[in-house]
Amino acid sequence: MPDDLLKNIAAIQARIQASCERCHRHPSSVKLLLATKTVTPERIALALQAGHTLIAENRIQELKEKHAALQSWPHTNHFIGHLQTNKVKEILKYDVACLQSLDRIALAQKLHERLLAAKKTLDVLIQVNTSGEASKFGIAPEEALTLTKQVAALPTLKIKGLMTIGIFSADTEKVRSCFQLLHSIKNEIASAQIPEVSMQELSMGMSGDLEVAIEEGATIIRVGTAIFGKRDTPDSYYWNEQSDK
Ligand SMILES: *Cc1c(COP(=O)(O)O)cnc(C)c1O
Repeated sequence: MPDDLLKNIAAIQARIQASCERCHRHPSSVKLLLATKTVTPERIALALQAGHTLIAENRIQELKEKHAALQSWPHTNHFIGHLQTNKVKEILKYDVACLQSLDRIALAQKLHERLLAAKKTLDVLIQVNTSGEASKFGIAPEEALTLTKQVAALPTLKIKGLMTIGIFSADTEKVRSCFQLLHSIKNEIASAQIPEVSMQELSMGMSGDLEVAIEEGATIIRVGTAIFGKRDTPDSYYWNEQSDK
């Protein structure tokens, strides 16, 4: 059976294009990130070969397992899963360009210590829990500015924007209010003019809600299912993991 992956990516690009037209944005202002959890390196490589090179994993174990197999294809790794503090040493081994899920100061401090010792820096997005669902990670909206200021004081961490997972709901307006909230927090932080803090990226929108996210200003959409197909592992495995905070 041929793999429909590239056709699926083309369909996503058409959705991006159509959404951008509706809200008068340029399609190049929206980056497509491939959420590759549970996907084999062989299939990921097909996307990379076709030039879709921004990919992200949720778990260190999977990042590690696929790292060697993907090394010969140029690509950019982001990390979009909950990161336990005791995995900080690990994540720095695998060329992660951006940690999208920074959601607490203890994690930031651990990262900073390690990065300082390694004389490295790391781009980060602050993950905000805009849905209020306990099962999702992320800082509470009202604490996002404070966390941003605290992280900004750690010079190895380069804040580039915000990330959120919208509420799972068939009610588009409920989903939209999550994305609007993230956008308004971005504006709040931008107007605080914290030195070295950029608010250029808004990572929001997935297979089911990318249109709404683009309308509300997403610059990165994270797509898995609509490209790679349904996953056998339920998302609760990735999202409800015991936290070590
Ligand atoms: C899996 C995942 C996605 C992609 O979700 P789909 O619905 O499969 O497109 C996006 N963001 C995060 C954080 C994820 O874990």
